[in-house]
Amino acid sequence: MREPVIACIALGANLGDAKQAVTDAMAAIHRLPATRVQARSRLWRSAPVEAQGPDFINAVVRVETRLDAMALLAALQGIEQAAGRERPYVNAPRTLDLDLLLYGDGCIASPKLTVPHPRMMGRAFVLRPLAEVAPGRVGTAQLEAVAGQVIEAM
Ligand code: ADP
Ligand code: MG
Repeated sequence: MREPVIACIALGANLGDAKQAVTDAMAAIHRLPATRVQARSRLWRSAPVEAQGPDFINAVVRVETRLDAMALLAALQGIEQAAGRERPYVNAPRTLDLDLLLYGDGCIASPKLTVPHPRMMGRAFVLRPLAEVAPGRVGTAQLEAVAGQVIEAM
């Protein structure tokens, strides 16, 4: 069997009961095959960036998994679907968004999957919760660069 890999997953929601959706998704990720959640960030609240709608609830979890990266992405998309995710247009408000930020030290550039996630840098709502679960993966300079973005720990 393949060696376990540490991966970090960003969770976001801004439709319906977003807090509940993010909390439920953390539990659903923990139930995935060959995967367990090792650390959960706090929940954070942020105003939409390049998007419309209500405030987002954001969080990051660190998992240990034996799934390969594509299988993990497919599993995360299954959880999004089960939460009623629809994609009417780019950056539409969403019941649940699960993005694979980091998969071990891997760099992946395939049509369906880019890791590290291309839009994670420069976003406080990703970097601050990521720093809570994987402090070694976020630099002080990166955090300082997003210090002006208003987000609130709940
Ligand atoms: P976004 O999260 O960018 O707002 P979506 O959740 O609709 O938008 O994702 C769009 C596509 O991004 C997915 O179909 C997926 O194949 C692709 N994708 C590429 N890299 C990643 C990643 N690291 N994590 C999640 N999805 C990714
Ligand atoms: Mg996404």
